[in-house]
Parts: sequence; structure tokens; C-alpha cells
Amino acid sequence: MIAPDACDLLTPLAEIRGIPGTVARELEVMGITRVGQLLVHLPHRHERIESRTRLGDIVADQIVSVQGEITATRIAGKFPRQRLEGVLWDETGRLDLVWFNGAYLRSKIMPGVRLRVQGKTRARGPGFQIANPRFEVLDPDHATIETDEGAVLRPVYPATERLDSRRIERAIRLILDRAASLVEDHLPDVYRASRDVPRLDRAYRMMHHPADETEVADARRRLAFDELLMLQLGVHLKRAELRERLRAPALPLTDTIDKAIRDRLPFKLTAAQDAVVADIARDLSRTVPTNRLIQGDVGSGKTAVAAYAILMAVAAGHQAALMAPTELLAEQHYASLSGMLTGSRVRIDLLTGTTPRADREAMLDRLAAGEVDVLIGTHALLTESVRFASLAVAVIDEQHRFGVHQRARLRAKVDEPGVTPHVLVMTATPIPRTLAIALFGDLDVSTIAGLPPGRKGVTTRLVGPEKRSEVYAYLRGRIEQGEQAYVVAPSIEGEASAGVRRLASELETGILAGIRIAVLHGQLRRPTRERIMERFRQKLIDVLVSTTVIEVGVDVPNASVIVIENAERFGLAQLHQLRGRVGRGSKKGLCVIISATETEEARERLQTLVATGDGFELADKDFELRGPGELFGASQSGLPDFKVADLMRDRELLAMARRDAAAWIARSPRLEGSDEQLLRHRLLKLYREGLGLGDVG
Ligand code: ADP
Ligand code: MG
Repeated sequence: MIAPDACDLLTPLAEIRGIPGTVARELEVMGITRVGQLLVHLPHRHERIESRTRLGDIVADQIVSVQGEITATRIAGKFPRQRLEGVLWDETGRLDLVWFNGAYLRSKIMPGVRLRVQGKTRARGPGFQIANPRFEVLDPDHATIETDEGAVLRPVYPATERLDSRRIERAIRLILDRAASLVEDHLPDVYRASRDVPRLDRAYRMMHHPADETEVADARRRLAFDELLMLQLGVHLKRAELRERLRAPALPLTDTIDKAIRDRLPFKLTAAQDAVVADIARDLSRTVPTNRLIQGDVGSGKTAVAAYAILMAVAAGHQAALMAPTELLAEQHYASLSGMLTGSRVRIDLLTGTTPRADREAMLDRLAAGEVDVLIGTHALLTESVRFASLAVAVIDEQHRFGVHQRARLRAKVDEPGVTPHVLVMTATPIPRTLAIALFGDLDVSTIAGLPPGRKGVTTRLVGPEKRSEVYAYLRGRIEQGEQAYVVAPSIEGEASAGVRRLASELETGILAGIRIAVLHGQLRRPTRERIMERFRQKLIDVLVSTTVIEVGVDVPNASVIVIENAERFGLAQLHQLRGRVGRGSKKGLCVIISATETEEARERLQTLVATGDGFELADKDFELRGPGELFGASQSGLPDFKVADLMRDRELLAMARRDAAAWIARSPRLEGSDEQLLRHRLLKLYREGLGLGDVG
């Protein structure tokens, strides 16, 4: 056995004298086997315990912490509703205790046992009682941290059923001094002082054993900042490496090329689009690989900007790829780009998961031989066998729908060593600003501000199910005036497309009888789906009853009304996307959200949608209400699992971390300074463990 003050950070806890074997075993179950791991097992909160009250001083209706000796107990009431009653004494007086359904405690709480109890007092008869108090049996060698003078802060640790926070606290207290003294800080002193954050060892001490709330706050601030700074440094370090190691083809832009591209676009770019195109053109003309995020609200016209970049690649004799999250959207991009390019020599192809095998193989051969100029597709583009002869521009549309590794995988699609395409990712801003910074700190950002001219916007209404027939009667009226509409219903787990088919036939045989209705969902085969979309575009269909397959990207300007059923089942960002399907033409869009929800929270969420049309604002709100985990599947988000940092609460720390990391890496791109070695080492260690930064390359 090793004495606690002789251990090092790698000493197994099972070998530390003073940590009981049962505790070491239970810690191991939690994945904590060594001293260093125990040190970084942080309390998730601290509980304030007022100084101990003497039993004789008790008054009613106060939360107190008291201790004394149990002098009598009894079980009362009928099985199975039995309660345990106990009487607690100290030298000054008496307190009654009762645990409802507490018969099982009888072997713990017995006359002669000393207890510390906490709870709210109430007057009962001539004395006082606490019902269901929290309690702790005091053993003779118990290390008490209470003082009689003032309140103490007690750390509350993530614990298990078999190992409570108090026993974890005792184990940590045993090693804290020694372990903290062994912690080296990876932040240089000067920098740390400039940011006014405590040293790492001190942060751990204060977190585990704070003297007061200020110390908890200081410790938290350091540890949270550390997590954010490490992430940002990592992002910028990788980015610097990328810039140093890899080259992208420089794509020249002449007036002739610019004009040729613009002539192909079906409309004149807005000033906002032009500004973004200028950013892109500047990026692409260099050999530094572009990593740019193009954000613009739903309907802001991102496709045209992507088309511009794609055509720049083609004009320079290279290839371009455009990846979309759904087949429907890929098909639409393919159709519209093919449309723009009719009569030109540009060879364009579409590759999705349902492309027939023979076609696919022929296509891949042509692609590798440089006989395809533009490849549009879905995730299928990422398949190993897809190789480009000379990929210069890769665009990822609706990036938030993809996981975290896509950028890196697209980058690797060029066989020539050291060469990588320029990458543009587009998103309709459902990524809240704070998250975008955390996740995409390595990206340059361009924003398409505002919508193309002539848009009348979308009005949103929230109604209860009792208004349903009224809504559809109104819809009928608008359709009879030549407008088109979407009706969206959530797909129900396990029944795939049955829900929309049922809804469609209900409408067809009822209130929308005589209106041309079609059903659209993900299970339809591609030719069928394409035919339906085409007929909808040509106004041969009035109403599309659809699952959320239309959520992203679908663009039919004449469609002006969207009705969303059971809206509470969707996230805000998703509803905003759906609503963005209308109001794309010259008619004002209408979005009717039908929801039967009665929960306050869901109402509030849906009301936000009515109140604001701004995607940025909504994303922030959604994030606030539901947290990052809901916005992205946890594994999808690419967001590391922060132990202390909280992206909502720590926005300012995040901004500071981002600024500092950028400046730091600019100054020292390889972290080779003598006082940066530990930092570099720890960063690399974090990377090897993944940390969700896989897409920064
Ligand atoms: P996003 O992908 O950003 O949601 P889209 O690229 O689908 O938006 O464009 C939305 C609609 O606006 C499309 O119908 C598109 O044709 C139209 N549009 C885009 N840019 C312009 C423009 N400069 N002038 C007129 N219409 C435009
Ligand atoms: Mg789009």
C-alpha cells in the first residue's frame, strides 16, 4: 500500500492506503482507477450547508443541518405503507424524524446510532419534526468538514447507487493535496495571468474543496475556459497544418469567365449574393485550400452561389462536386444545374445510393478519367470507389444534416498527393451562433444577408386541431385561385409512409375532394419521385402531402401555403426549414402549424416560430430551450463532451478562447515554443482520442 502523500497521478487507487477496497472497486466501475482520474472527477454542483443547528435552537419551517443520537425508533402504519419514526437527541433538545415508506431503513437507523440529518423543519405538537430528511450515519473516524462558525460548501459528485457522493468526496480529499501538487499547468504563466485565470492545480483544489462561492466560480471559469481553449487551439492547429501541408488548384477568374458564368444563371445575383461570390472567388484563386461556411437563411439563394463556385472550377478545366443530404435535393440540384448548362459542353452527372450499379460503374470510370465535370450526389459521393481526376471545388449543401467527417472525406477524393479541393459548406443557419463558433471555428464565414428581391415573406399561424377543417377549407380556396401547397405530417415510427397516405386519402375523399393531390415520401422510387416533383413544378398537382423529405432545399416558387400537422413533433429548426418551402415566389407565403399540444413548453416553442421569421434567432432559441444534444444527435454534432464548459452560459469564454486560439496559432503555428511543449502534448493527446474534430482537415 502507498501512502496518499507519496502517490503519483498514475498510482492505482486500489493501492492507496486509506481508500477502502469497496470504494476502489466501485470507482473502477465508474471508469476511475488511478489517482489522476479521481482528481479530474469533478463535482457537478456544490451544496451549501448552513452551520449546524443545535436541536434546542430549532424553529419551524427552516432547512437545517443537525446531528445527534437516535434514542428510539418504531415502525408505524400498515404494510406496505409503513413509515419509520425516530427520535434524535443532542445535549440541547429533541427532534422527531419520519421516513415515509422507510421501513427498509430500520437496520441503519437504530437507537445508539449517530446521525447527521438535513431537511425542513415543521412544528408538530409541542416540538418539531423533519419528514424524509436526508441523513448520513456518522462513523467515529468520520472526517467532518463542518465548522460551527459559518456555512460550508460541500461538493456533490456524480455518483452511483452503490457509491455515494460522500464516499467519493472522502477518497478525493485523501489524495487532493498530493495529486493537485503534481498537476502541471499547460498554459504559460504570462498568458494565464493576462486572462486572470487560476493555475490548474489551484482550480482543482478549489473545485473539490472551495472556501466559498467565489472559489467555485474561479475554478469553474478556469476549467471551462480550458476546455474551450483546447478545442479552439486544436481547430486552429489543424487548420494551420492543412494550410501548410496541402495545396488546392488555384482557379483564375477573368472578366470573360465571370460573364460566362453569370450568363448561365437564371437571374441577376443580389448584392448579398455578389458579396459572397466575391469572397469565394478570392478564396478559389489561391492555392490555400478554402474552408468556407456559407450561411444564409432558408430561401436566401445559396444554390446560385454554389453554382458560381462550381462553374469556376469547370472554367479552369477542373472538376466540382456538390453533395446534398437527401436524394430529393440532389435530384433537384441536378435538374436545375443541368438546366443552366443546356447547350454547353459541361458534362454533369448524378450519383446517389439508388443509382443502378452498371450506370454507377461507368460513371465512376468517366469521373476518374476526367470525363465528368460536375458530379452531384448524396452521401454516395463519399464511397471509397468514387475518385476524381481533378477535383477543385467540393460543396456540401445543408451541412448540418451531415455528420462530422464529411469535409475530411471529400478532401481525400483527389489522388494526387498534397492536393485537396477547395471546400464550401452551406447551411441555412440552424446552427446557433455559439455552436457554430465552437464547431466550425476553423471555417471562414460568409453570410448571405436578406432574401432575393420581390419576396413577400411568410406569415405563420399556430392553430389547435379544432380549427383543422377551417384551415383546409381556406386552403381549398387558395388552391382554387391557382396556388399550390404542401401538407406535411410527421412520419410515425414503424409505419413509414402509412401516415401520409392515410392523410392524403382523408383529404382527397373529404374536404379537398376534386383537388389534385399527390403523396411524396422517402420510400418512393426515384423515377416516381422525380415524376411527382416535375408534375408539381408544372402545376399538374395542386397539393403535395409529404413527410419531411421536402424539409431541405425543395424549391417550387409557386407553392405558397404549407400546412404542418402535429407540429409539436418537430424541432424549431426543422419547422423553420419546412416553412421556408413557401414564400419563394412573388406571392406571400402562409405556414399553418397545427398542434394539439397542451404542454406549456411546446406551446412556447411553437409560439417563437410565429413570432420570428429569422432563422438565426430561432436557432439560438431552440438551443436555449433544448440544448445542443437535441439539435444534433450527440455523435453527429462533432461537439466534444465538455465536463465543465456550457456553451450557453460560457459564450463569453468561448469568444475569448476563439480569439486567443487564432492569435496564438498565427504566432506559433506548430506550438514549438519552449513553454508550449506540454500544451502541444496534451492537445495531440486529445486529438488522438477523437474529440470530434475529425472534420477539420
Ligand atoms: P436556399 O438554398 O438558400 O434556401 P435557393 O438557392 O433554393 O435558396 O433559392 C431560393 C429561391 O430564390 C429559388 O427559387 C431561386 O431560384 C431564387 N433566387 C435565388 N437567387 C435569386 C436572385 N438573385 N434573384 C431572384 N431569385 C433568386
Ligand atoms: Mg438550398
